[in-house]
Order: sequence, then structure tokens, then C-alpha cells
Amino acid sequence: MNCRICNSEATKVFDAKVLNKFSVSYIKCRKCCALFTEKPYWLDEAYARTINLSDTGLLARNLYFSQIISVLLFFEFDRNAKYLDYAGGYGVFTRLMRDIGFDFYWNDPYTQNLLANGFEYNLESNIRFELLTAFEVFEHLENPNAEIEKILTLSDSIAFSTELLPDSVPDMNWWYYGFDHGQHITFYSAETFFYLAQKFNLNYYNINGIQLLTRKKLNKNKIILLKKIRNYGPFQLVKKKMKSKTFSDHLNLRIPK
Ligand SMILES: [Zn+2]
Repeated sequence: MNCRICNSEATKVFDAKVLNKFSVSYIKCRKCCALFTEKPYWLDEAYARTINLSDTGLLARNLYFSQIISVLLFFEFDRNAKYLDYAGGYGVFTRLMRDIGFDFYWNDPYTQNLLANGFEYNLESNIRFELLTAFEVFEHLENPNAEIEKILTLSDSIAFSTELLPDSVPDMNWWYYGFDHGQHITFYSAETFFYLAQKFNLNYYNINGIQLLTRKKLNKNKIILLKKIRNYGPFQLVKKKMKSKTFSDHLNLRIPK
């Protein structure tokens, strides 16, 4: 089987039981170092619930990402522009970013918007976004190239999360394989992202676990600063400087008497 990302020769590394019943082959590409499943025929069953039941990290992850992304947008992007959380799930991230003060919109064809009502974005409306976020999306993709192409019609910058593959293939206990839910079908190493960046003429950065593919060339010193923000000092500054939309959104969304 050839690599679903770079089309080079790939070899099977192991078989695993997915959803407790399907025996699935996991295949690794020698060139771009991606690891992926055989053609995923079990997805209907895997997505019976769109957000997997064992995902206890959903809130913690969104809080962490909102802090890192706020600082990135504040210092490196147009802080007053429009942003899109692509595949935004329940709307947690969109709401958090609006609370901080960034003009974020939500899109997700598969999940009900619970927290970002009023900020749905319809992909047909032809707006271009300053940056688009896609958290825990890439590992679900069967055809990442096609998805990146689609995303690039909406924005020149994609910030996303996915757990990076270490140099050697992790053993079967690696939590990110997600054999229990069967939704993770493509795993990426840094090499995979360098390959994708080159293919789509983008720059690739890894900022504290946020992967960034962008047409922008970022300032190296600023990147170093951004990487040092684990104690969130700069985040407190951003929060002070931005004007939260929590209350103005509330006023705009109220049903008129
Ligand atoms: Zn490859």
C-alpha cells in the first residue's frame, strides 16, 4: 500500500483490534514517516457518537489551546480579523476565544453547536479568515491532502493539534491510537508536516504542541518567546488588552422584547 499523504511506498507495522472487533493493519510510510490504518471501513460504527466517549481531555485541551492561540494571534496575526474554528465540535473553543475577545466563528457538519450559537459560519459564504483552527481533526482524516486544499480556500494559515508521532512507532499502549473508538486513522510526525508544508508552499512551526501551517513567515525571536509562554504571563497581557465579547455577544443574542 502507498502512503495516503505522499504516495511513497509504505509497510505494515502491526495489526490491532479496533472497536473490539475489527482487525486493522497499521502502515508506516518510509518517506514522510506518517503512520496510518488500512482503508477505514469501520467509521460508521466509530462515529455512532461524533465525540468519542473516552475523550476526558476535551475541556482541559480547549482551555490550554485558547491561551496559546490567543498569544499567537495577538502577536503574529491581525487581532481584529475574523477567525474560524473548523470542525468546532460543541463550540467550546469558539466561545472561549470570543470570551477573550477574538472574533471567532464555528463550523462543524457533524456535531451539534451547544456553546457558540449565533456564530455559525456557513462554508459557502466566501469569507477568507485570518487563521483557521482545527483541533484534534487531522488524525481523523482519510485524505489529509484534500482537506488541506479545502482549508486553504478559506485561509492562508491553519493552527491545529494532533499528537505527534515519536521517532519510533509507539507500542500498542500508546493512548492516541484510540483502538477503543476507532476514529484515529492517520498519525503524523514532524517530517510529515515538513512534507505537507513543502507540497502546499507553506511554512511549518510547532509552538508548544500547536502545529501551524501558514503562508506567513513568522519572526524567529517571537516564536521563541511564544514557546516560553507555558506560565501564561503573556496570556494575562493579551487578556488585559483584548476586549471580551462575552457581554456584547449576550446583548446581541438576546431575543428582543
Ligand atoms: Zn508518506
